[in-house]
Amino acid sequence: MSAPAQQRIIFQHIDEPGYTNDIECYLRNGGYEVLKKSVGRKPEELIDEVKKSGLRGRGGAGFPCGVKWGLVDRKSGKPIYLIVNADESEPGTFKDRYIMHQDPHQLIEGTIISCFANNVKQAYIYIRGEMPEGARILEKAIAEARAKNFVGPNILGTGYSCEIYVHRGAGAYICGEETGLIESLEGKRANPRIKPPYFPAVLGLYQCPTIVNNVETLCQVKYICDVGGEAYAKIGTPGNTGTRIFCVSGHVQRPGYYEFPAGTITMGQLLNDVCGGPLPGRTFKAVIPGGSSAKVLKFGERYKGKRKVGADMVDYDWGVEDVPMDFDSLAMIGSMGGSGGVIVMDDTVNMVEALANINAFYSHESCGQCTPCREGSLWMKKISSRMVNGDARPQDGALLKSVADQIPGRTICAFGEACSWPTQSFTIKFKDEFDAYSEVKKTLPADRTVLV
Ligand code: SF4
Repeated sequence: MSAPAQQRIIFQHIDEPGYTNDIECYLRNGGYEVLKKSVGRKPEELIDEVKKSGLRGRGGAGFPCGVKWGLVDRKSGKPIYLIVNADESEPGTFKDRYIMHQDPHQLIEGTIISCFANNVKQAYIYIRGEMPEGARILEKAIAEARAKNFVGPNILGTGYSCEIYVHRGAGAYICGEETGLIESLEGKRANPRIKPPYFPAVLGLYQCPTIVNNVETLCQVKYICDVGGEAYAKIGTPGNTGTRIFCVSGHVQRPGYYEFPAGTITMGQLLNDVCGGPLPGRTFKAVIPGGSSAKVLKFGERYKGKRKVGADMVDYDWGVEDVPMDFDSLAMIGSMGGSGGVIVMDDTVNMVEALANINAFYSHESCGQCTPCREGSLWMKKISSRMVNGDARPQDGALLKSVADQIPGRTICAFGEACSWPTQSFTIKFKDEFDAYSEVKKTLPADRTVLV
């Protein structure tokens, strides 16, 4: 069966010839009309639309946006803040950067609507330090929006005022973790906070209730407030509503970003029909479906079990190609949809070397607060490094997995899981490659470049 048609909500205009990121272009394409409509409604109605939509956060965890908003402490008497998580640091993910570069007003409109719905008077866009161009574009766009009275005091004469500030990080993966991000925004080192008590909805920025939403999520909110929650919920599949953007990189003929109704496309359709299949003469070997921390899937494996379809439980028996690309299906087969970063590896890839690169990254990015994460990620990096540098010891493959197994569930934040899942999955699914490295000391060719 060939792939379904793309349905572009977020990327509706971005790639049209002549579409630019200035406000006049945005206005010509219906920009800020949803804001005008939304500020004429009651904030509770907008929250209700988002709840009805079933929108799940697009930053990685897939937590329902309406539920997140519902958890905000609105009785504390303190100001409520909204933070746009524009840190997009998961390797393999590049959708938010593209939105900010090509269509910043879509994000600003979604942010102001979300602020209005939640009685927020100050919002911060926390943008990754490695995206200076994105920060410059956003600052220009906010100034344009302020000049048109879409941002700032007395928005559109409603009496409602809201400011948006752009805050640049210095570039650290852990700033994408919402409490680490909040620490950084407060001017401190981005050490994630212990939850409880520091759930942002209650004790977030400056100890005030805070909503942290991803860039794409807020753009989806704008669309929901335009068409209504019920209409939005009809896009995609039950439990996985709206559209999903996939950032496909690696060994396919047409890498890039693609937007489909969630859950309507399988991995095989995405990689073969949409992305053109493997490079000439090659075959697919493995794929990481949701950013580098997601567990790797191996082509040729089969995944069996039962799943809910409507009111019934039905058997499934999938190869990697058959898996629907939604949060729940990918979780059922032991991985995750995460941030939508699909990293494809063909039969030229040495999985021991691929894991060594991933482990070097996560070791560098651990904030160091928790011993299992700080030491464990470093051990995994060191073991991987000596394996690919021809200095493996017997049982190194098993040792790697053993270290990874000690980390999850023993740390302050989910980075503990993120840094160990690649090693856990690579060493199980490609055990033969790790065993071969563990048993045989490799002699590297003189011209070989070893990255870690
Ligand atoms: Fe820091 Fe790692 Fe602990 Fe998270 S799990 S707080 S990144 S040391």
